[in-house]
Amino acid sequence: MSRHLAISIFTFFVISNFHTRAQFNLPQDSIEHVVFLIGDAGDVEDKTDKVFNLFLRQIKPITKKSTVLFLGDNIYPGGMPNKTEKGRKEAEQIIIHQLNRLKQSKAKIYYIPGNHDWNKGKKGGLSHLLNEEKFIEQNLGNVNLFIPSNGCPGPFKINISDHLVLIALDTQWWLHKFKKGTCNNISTSEIINNLKTILDHNKDKNILIVGHHPIITKGDHGGFFTIKKHLFPLTHFNKYLYLPLPIIGSIVPFYRKLIGNKQDVAHSRYKKMIKELTNAFKTYDNLIYAAGHEHNLQYYDKGSQHYIVSGSASKISDVKNLKSPHFSSNKKGFFKLSYLKNGNIFLQSFGIVNGLEKLLFQKMIPRFDKNITTHNLNPANYVRISR
Ligand SMILES: [Zn+2]
Repeated sequence: MSRHLAISIFTFFVISNFHTRAQFNLPQDSIEHVVFLIGDAGDVEDKTDKVFNLFLRQIKPITKKSTVLFLGDNIYPGGMPNKTEKGRKEAEQIIIHQLNRLKQSKAKIYYIPGNHDWNKGKKGGLSHLLNEEKFIEQNLGNVNLFIPSNGCPGPFKINISDHLVLIALDTQWWLHKFKKGTCNNISTSEIINNLKTILDHNKDKNILIVGHHPIITKGDHGGFFTIKKHLFPLTHFNKYLYLPLPIIGSIVPFYRKLIGNKQDVAHSRYKKMIKELTNAFKTYDNLIYAAGHEHNLQYYDKGSQHYIVSGSASKISDVKNLKSPHFSSNKKGFFKLSYLKNGNIFLQSFGIVNGLEKLLFQKMIPRFDKNITTHNLNPANYVRISR
């Protein structure tokens, strides 16, 4: 049986059996490369260990052809302070904890920055970011794997495999008010032009773009707040503070939905960034944009383009319950993308539910073809396993 036939039969088997809600193991020889998306992992205590254990178990059989992407907010609360400053030791320990676990695998590792790595966007954030970049790269053999480098916005391109191109962006660069990397005084229109040039040169490949800030989100930063947060806003500070404050409790949610702070989608700077990026993406197919920032798991199916939020490696927050073909979960976890040799992508999300490791969602993303688009509309093509 030819490999293509075997993969086609497997794809049909997966799609037609999704209703059984079973986990499927891909034939090893069908996989070209596997990417793990781990976001907001910077709150390390023992509590992240369950996510890391689950992740290490997933990565084990495929280590040689796998890549781990840390999607920013790698160190809470404020990136890596200078050597003599308070908090430096704790920041180093967070990275050492992450790397010690990962050194057990042979996966390639890349880090991208988030707003917390830039010291929460405060003045002097650049030095915290550069400290983090230097420390991580020194600990991994002085290879350039903190991307984009030097407080610059990117796009930074890496050919992950023959048919997969990774493009890293520093989205906090767009939002940051204070000193940034010099980067030849690059403008946002130059960034977009550079991005489009990379996309033009790689139209025949799968594209994975990573930036810390989501382009679509139904979490706090997107202005979504549960009824509980509207009625009992003090539970945000203490989970037992059930003091009903209707109307007053809605002020913050409405502010964040309509005006927003700089880290919210509604803020004018953030909105401008989304507009420029989505304009750049819109004519390209087979594109996934993956982010962190929200402490939950989200997936949006937009036909030839797909949007992922994977920011619950160490913290969790509420998210709107998304209906198919989309998916959301407020559990700790991560996404796994298996890029197959036939161009399809097997997307899975794993998480911790009531202390147990669970497959939350899986979906075969067929390679997009403008002439055959109906597969993206087939409801049998995806399944929510658990929430
Ligand atoms: Zn963030």
